[in-house]
Amino acid sequence: MKTMTKNKNKETKHSSLIVRWVSIVALTITVSFVIFSVVVYQIVSRQSLDQQEEMSLNVVTTLNRTLSSIPDELEISNVIPSLSPATRRILKGEPAISDKDSTNNAFSDNLIASISNPDINSAVYNKHGEIVFTNGNVTPKFKSFKEVSKNELVKRNGHQILLTYQKVYSSVNNKLTGYIVVSNNMTYYNSLMKNLLHSMVAISIIAIVVFVVTSYILVFNVVKPIKRMSKVAQEVNADPNSGARIKELNRDDELENLATSINQMLDRMQSYIEQQKQFVGDVSHELRTPVAVIEGHLNMLERWGKDDPQILDESIKASLQEADRMKHLIQEMLDLTRAEQIDVQYPHEVTNVYDTVKRVVADLAMVHPDFEIRLDEDDLPQDTEIQIYHGHLEQLLVILIDNAIKYSTNLKQINVSAGLTKKEVNIIVQDFGEGISKEDQKKIFNRFYRVDKARTREKGGNGLGLSIAHKLVDSYHGEISVESVEGQGSQFKLTFPLISKKKAAKLKKLNENSELPKSNLE
Ligand code: ADP
Repeated sequence: MKTMTKNKNKETKHSSLIVRWVSIVALTITVSFVIFSVVVYQIVSRQSLDQQEEMSLNVVTTLNRTLSSIPDELEISNVIPSLSPATRRILKGEPAISDKDSTNNAFSDNLIASISNPDINSAVYNKHGEIVFTNGNVTPKFKSFKEVSKNELVKRNGHQILLTYQKVYSSVNNKLTGYIVVSNNMTYYNSLMKNLLHSMVAISIIAIVVFVVTSYILVFNVVKPIKRMSKVAQEVNADPNSGARIKELNRDDELENLATSINQMLDRMQSYIEQQKQFVGDVSHELRTPVAVIEGHLNMLERWGKDDPQILDESIKASLQEADRMKHLIQEMLDLTRAEQIDVQYPHEVTNVYDTVKRVVADLAMVHPDFEIRLDEDDLPQDTEIQIYHGHLEQLLVILIDNAIKYSTNLKQINVSAGLTKKEVNIIVQDFGEGISKEDQKKIFNRFYRVDKARTREKGGNGLGLSIAHKLVDSYHGEISVESVEGQGSQFKLTFPLISKKKAAKLKKLNENSELPKSNLE
């Protein structure tokens, strides 16, 4: 009861595999893309920033090289002429454009060119932080700083701006003469990083959508057959006799294998249930007769038989006979059930056929002195061995010889022969009794089947011997067959696969090592 409620809870609690799977995929992809994007963004940003810093530093260095040649404190009067050759000439009263410029003042021209980058604004301040020169649209502000040179990133209107500060020392007397401040708008860098960010977000969104959709399709494909299987399992759970089976999945994979295995398992389980039902029905039917007989005798005794010693004697004898039959029946039913578990109980048993057949025949001949039981073992080498537990081979021989004796008529002779072919060992039990019709030959191996119920009962038969024999032989991968002519007799043949000497030795060794208990099956 407890387990049922537990299972029910489990059923209702289940959350969709698809939702779980897709969420995990989406989360994993998102996290991976975010990490990947951040790393790529950082690398690109670092490299581009390095380039921008180098560009700013070039301007600052170029300016500094020119300004350091001024020995005095920087001021408009000495900075402007040194930075602009044209200004210097005008101040000297010469023409602004000179042929000499290209050679004499090439450095200054280059300087102007380098600081004329539209992205870069530069300014020169004197020792007191007062502006003495500026170039560009915006004048980068002065801010005191301790180091000789420093870079600073600031954000303006959502854009990153690089500020480079450097002190100017006179190359003549090594004295601090002023400061250079260069601001770099980094237009290229800002637009590159903006585009990169947009692309990454777009790619991430597309990737997440693609992965989520494909994983949904994939998982759906896996979950669909699982749902089918679960539905069938529920149906069979609700009604163990249900014929519900998993339909063919048309996919050559593990799920198809699982579906096939589940179907086979359900078939087997239902066949076991059917067999079990049949067995219980058969058993109760078989037990009913002896119980009814005993009950009848007891009733009779109770009513009027107690005082009649003859009736009393007869009834007690008859009841005892029925009780004995019941005992025999129960033993046979146990044998039948156990015959189905041989694989597990006797995996490594090896038996010498010659010795066993000889022993059983001798024993039965002693019990039935009125019968002539002939043994022909000429074709059987004495060391012939087969894979079977010796008790089971004995049981098989007893069943067949016992039947031959039971169903013999006038000629009380039984022939037992044992022989060998290339791959098999054959044991034949022949009688010259009543024989079995073709129709009955097909049924005699069924449980509780008797050709003539009343007559067999008289002989003490329960119709279980041959079904036990059939199960045993089956378990040892052998065969049992019958040939019979009504009124002339029957011949039952046992066939077992022959095993090599090597295999026999190996099995014996394994058997010595195994500690399985056998007593319960004997
Ligand atoms: P039982 O215990 O009744 O003999 P079995 O399963 O051994 O049960 O046999 C089933 C039936 O097959 C028997 O009831 C009998 O009618 C028939 N049978 C078995 N062996 C022989 C035989 N050697 N000759 C004739 N009939 C046989």
